Amino acid sequence: MKCTRRSFLKLAGAGVLTLTLGQLGINIDDAMAYAGKLKIEGAKEVVTICPFCSVCCQVIAYVRDGKLVSTEGDPDHPVNEGALCAKGAALFTMYTSDHRLTKPLYRAPHSDKWEEKDWDWTLNQIARRVKDARDKDMILKNEAGQTVNRLESIFMMGTSHASNEECAVIHQAMRSLGVVHMDHQARV
Ligand code: SF4
Repeated sequence: MKCTRRSFLKLAGAGVLTLTLGQLGINIDDAMAYAGKLKIEGAKEVVTICPFCSVCCQVIAYVRDGKLVSTEGDPDHPVNEGALCAKGAALFTMYTSDHRLTKPLYRAPHSDKWEEKDWDWTLNQIARRVKDARDKDMILKNEAGQTVNRLESIFMMGTSHASNEECAVIHQAMRSLGVVHMDHQARV
């Protein structure tokens, strides 16, 4: 039987539990029955990577009935050996958190309130404002007469919950507009 680091840890954990409680004279049958009903019972293990930075820690995603039920670091992966940083450890909440925005929020100039907007309104606003900014502020050449095609009046701020791939697409989109000022919270 192939014994991976992950299966070894499972076996070792079960062995220690059995030995310790058994030695104390405690019947662990009920505990073992309960353990069988844990949240990952019957779930399919899907190996994936944490999307948050280029370290690319490996993650086991547990999926049951087409739904993600848990995530954890993969102890068999040489990069992270089962460990995840705070962002990777919170990966599951990216999918389940009640705080996750599902609609665009807009705060009008000088307002102290956020308003929910639909995507048509939001995308039209973005397109209108980007076009106006480019028409007004696009710098085609620098003082030396060199072509720069630079737009300095738009700043792009990314989110830590954008994946590597989303960041790559956002970066390319911003560069194509001439935007040079951008940042992204992708720090470990
Ligand atoms: S964000 Fe953390 S868990 Fe995710 S790949 Fe980077 S170091 Fe690993």
